[in-house]
Amino acid sequence: MVFDFKDIIEIMEKLEGISSKIEKTQILINILKNTPKENLEYVLLFLMGNIYPEHVEKELGISQNLLMKAMSKAYGHGIEEIERMWKEKGDLGRIAEELCEKRKQTALLFSSLTLREIFNVLRQAADMEGEGSIDKKMSLISGLLIKAKPKESKYLVRFILGDMRIGVAEGLVRDAIIGAYFSQFYWIDIFTSQQSITEEIILRYWKNKVFLISKEAELSHPLFVLIKKIAKEVKEIPEREIERISSFHYSKLKADIVITSSSELGSRLRQSYVELVDEAYALINDISQIALIAYEDGEEGLREVKPVIFRPIKVMLAQKVNTIIEAFNVVGKPAAFEYKFDGFRAQIHKNKDKVVIFTRRLENVTKQFPDIVSYIKEHINAENCIIEGEIIGYNKQTKEWLPFQKLSQRIKRKYYIEKIKEEIPAMIHLFDVVYVDDELVIKKPFKDRRRILEHIVREEDFKVMLAKQIITEDVKEAERFYKESLTKGNEGIMAKNLNAPYKPGLRVGNMLKIKPTLETLDLVIVGAEWGEGKRAGYLSSYELACYDPDTGEFLTIGKLGTGIKEKSEEGTSFEELTEILKPHIIKEEGKHVVIEPRLVVEVTYEEIQKSPHYTSGFALRFPRLVRVRDDKSPEEADTLERVYQIYEMQRGRGIRG
Ligand code: AMP
Repeated sequence: MVFDFKDIIEIMEKLEGISSKIEKTQILINILKNTPKENLEYVLLFLMGNIYPEHVEKELGISQNLLMKAMSKAYGHGIEEIERMWKEKGDLGRIAEELCEKRKQTALLFSSLTLREIFNVLRQAADMEGEGSIDKKMSLISGLLIKAKPKESKYLVRFILGDMRIGVAEGLVRDAIIGAYFSQFYWIDIFTSQQSITEEIILRYWKNKVFLISKEAELSHPLFVLIKKIAKEVKEIPEREIERISSFHYSKLKADIVITSSSELGSRLRQSYVELVDEAYALINDISQIALIAYEDGEEGLREVKPVIFRPIKVMLAQKVNTIIEAFNVVGKPAAFEYKFDGFRAQIHKNKDKVVIFTRRLENVTKQFPDIVSYIKEHINAENCIIEGEIIGYNKQTKEWLPFQKLSQRIKRKYYIEKIKEEIPAMIHLFDVVYVDDELVIKKPFKDRRRILEHIVREEDFKVMLAKQIITEDVKEAERFYKESLTKGNEGIMAKNLNAPYKPGLRVGNMLKIKPTLETLDLVIVGAEWGEGKRAGYLSSYELACYDPDTGEFLTIGKLGTGIKEKSEEGTSFEELTEILKPHIIKEEGKHVVIEPRLVVEVTYEEIQKSPHYTSGFALRFPRLVRVRDDKSPEEADTLERVYQIYEMQRGRGIRG
């Protein structure tokens, strides 16, 4: 089957109407199985609403306004009318569909668009710069819209805006890659209690599949009886045997669907693939390439994935603990403790004389930091490497650290860089190494990676230093170090497992942060209300949301009105937030506005409670703004799972409930 634009549109329609993650995954698995290799990249990029793979820095650069103009040209309706419809419906995709239908064009006049053509045209538009480019971009887009059928227009428009609204993001695509090229893993709880696997799913998606089912499972369950009827083959083997085969080589299980009796084994098998795919993905930042590798070279191919110098990797993330004792419990004894500097995380790629600096959002900030670039050139003794550290600003006179907000002015600055470099001098504290002299070193234990780092770095104060570190098993000594770090103006300390590998893109407890503050949450603003009285003209009562990485959805969790200043001189003000958010309003209903998820804010709160009022199922009590986190992308906001963990932790501590 040739899998192209028209097929994908049909599937998009299906996906949009389905809320079950399991069912969505089944559909994605079918897509992966039916898409020819040449189209795999386009199909996956299209589903996720990306014109380029994640690591490519280019953007399409088509604003909503420009898109409305292109729609106006393609459909022959006035721009005011389209704007009015948009304010009412809040989804330009549906409006395109409606206007396209109104055109009453006969089916013959539509030509069949291919994914290749769509990508070619849009990438061409992305490359356009300079005089007249806006008009040319608009013509290219209206050209595409003219050719598209109603349903196609809907998704084409959403694609141009980068928001497909089908609830498919990295998490589900990763699950589908595992399901399509390896196996799907379930354990019997899912059949007996949660009922997530239904008769419909089995009949619709599991016909003619090969099943491997644990002999210990309750095989008389009606769903298993059904499976036996429709399967191509059912292999019933003892649980111990599943364990034995998989410990030898996961792929040797050779089944489309594996159902274990113990949830421990089932989730362990699943998790091993999740880590395999996530880790390879984090190293090359291109999910369609990962799908291709899994398809062509299977497990081995994924294990051999190496990062590409000058293409940012997803870094290992830290978990939070509250005390040194807790830290020892997680990372073991002895452990490494390091200062936690309050700057920004830099991932530095070097090859010979070329140095590139990425932020944790994978943005290239090399131009903004010529000082750091030259320090790295002078102080790192390796042909090529990927190393990590915290860039931190300091006061020239007093040599004290500057708060992150000050340094962030340098990240934002695009011009007069030499001047700001003098005003806000910066240095780097290096703390990890991922790749050195053509060797990927992430599998090495942290203590060895630190040794490599010590070996290649020539330290010089206020230029390049290694993160200050102690290794201890003594709680008192670690506490002294913690206090020392705070007195030096740092944020806290990090605790690191000496024997743990580097896990790109994952938050797995090999690296912990300990800060004296309450656990804050980084949340995304997705809505607000126009204020009244002294706040007239400003947005207020900001609706906060956490992120679900499986579906790409932002789920609401509360409204923020405190901690924001009336005047800009006093800190983050209503005016400032309004300025940032206003261009991203996508819908207005009376006082209430819907805002595209763009801005991440850090908030404190008194407690997390369960709540039916918000789509996350949780509500924050008394949320208060700490600061704007413009170093984080919306996808880096705290996840629903994190919210749940904190909620559980609170309960554990007996705060409430
Ligand atoms: P947070 O941003 O609060 O999740 O804390 C984790 C961040 O602390 C990392 O992403 C780094 O940017 C930063 N950091 C500061 N010092 C260190 C260190 N010595 N080791 C690792 N991360 C550090």
